Amino acid sequence: MLEGMKILCVLYDDPVTGYPATYARDDLPALPGYPGGQTLPTPSSVDFTPGHLLGSVSGELGLRAFLEAAGHELVVTSDKESEEFERHLADADVVISQPFWPAYLTADRIARAPRLKLAVTAGIGSDHVDLDAAIAHGVTVAEVTYCNSISVAEHVVMSILNLVRNFVPSHQTVLNGGWNIADCVARSYDVEGMHIGTVAAGRIGLAVLKRLAPFDVHLHYTDRHRLRREVEQELGLTFHTSAADMVPHCDVVTVNAPLHPETEGLFDDSLIGSMKRGAYLINTARARIADRDAVVRALQSGRLAGYAGDVWFPQPAPADHPWRTMPHHGMTPHISGSSLSAQARYAAGTREILESFFAGTPIRDEYLIVDGGKLAGTGAHSYAVRG
Ligand code: NAD
Repeated sequence: MLEGMKILCVLYDDPVTGYPATYARDDLPALPGYPGGQTLPTPSSVDFTPGHLLGSVSGELGLRAFLEAAGHELVVTSDKESEEFERHLADADVVISQPFWPAYLTADRIARAPRLKLAVTAGIGSDHVDLDAAIAHGVTVAEVTYCNSISVAEHVVMSILNLVRNFVPSHQTVLNGGWNIADCVARSYDVEGMHIGTVAAGRIGLAVLKRLAPFDVHLHYTDRHRLRREVEQELGLTFHTSAADMVPHCDVVTVNAPLHPETEGLFDDSLIGSMKRGAYLINTARARIADRDAVVRALQSGRLAGYAGDVWFPQPAPADHPWRTMPHHGMTPHISGSSLSAQARYAAGTREILESFFAGTPIRDEYLIVDGGKLAGTGAHSYAVRG
């Protein structure tokens, strides 16, 4: 059993009005497990109330009592770019952060963290860690696979409906005291009958396809791994061997792949230029899968009728980031995977990973991205490295 570890945990700030004393709802639905049979996180116990805010600094992912009782030191901060962060990193054994407020573990930073053994993503998507550097330095990278995949799938479906039906400007009309119906509907369409494609049909992508099937649309996907024929038939899916092959057929494209060397910059001027005029692009995967300025140009020219998502680079996005002010967007801050429902799962999953790490027992294979000096588990399935 490992003792005396220093855990550096980077979380987003508390609400501007202070840490909540009450919540909008009293409970969360009880889920039997994840689709396909993966079990929910299995820590020995938890010291938090599911449904409470855990991902902000005062929530501490519900970890303090557990860690201190086991003789470890927990440092929690939202300040991920300061000298103080660098000082703590220098002797940290474990770094935990959430993709919503990522502690970027660049190759330089990993080189300056000689004791670092484990980087935990409290969420999904470990591209904020330089995976090549983690491999070179023997750092294990783990994430809480599936914890918020359904949360994101719900956000994707919401974003498609928001864009196609022109919800946000219509809501703004109400807030502005207006009632010009024509203003609201001049960009409003039905989703029914459209061709919708996902780049990647992993946990999120497949959940999006399943949720869209009842809308009577034509569903397309591309992925490194082809789905089982029964799944393709049940959902009526058309498989394409590449994004380049798929996107010209689609009215709506949703991106659900991790960011790694194969996907970085995928949606550039050329790929976006091959999409139908007036297509919609929804990206809740990672910002750098799309070329920032190519997206802006495509919205300005009308190639894209709308762009939505919640992922930006860097995070937090600067006040002058062009995606804040580009036309016809449905952007939010990075929130889709951090609902209170998801937080309960990833806080429990983070504790499960730490319990395994301290006990020297294997971390679940599906949680692993890098281990033993190579891509492992979900990392080997879903990521690539520069090598
Ligand atoms: P997953 O591992 O279940 O699925 C990833 C899929 O991407 C796999 O099927 C894999 O084969 C496919 N893929 C990888 N490279 C590809 C490529 N070059 N072309 C086509 N397909 C490729 O993961 P998931 O749970 O579905 O999550 C996917 C990603 O979504 C995460 O890595 C993360 O970046 C992002 N995400 C965002 C949020 C959010 O809050 N916005 C939350 C969770 C995850």
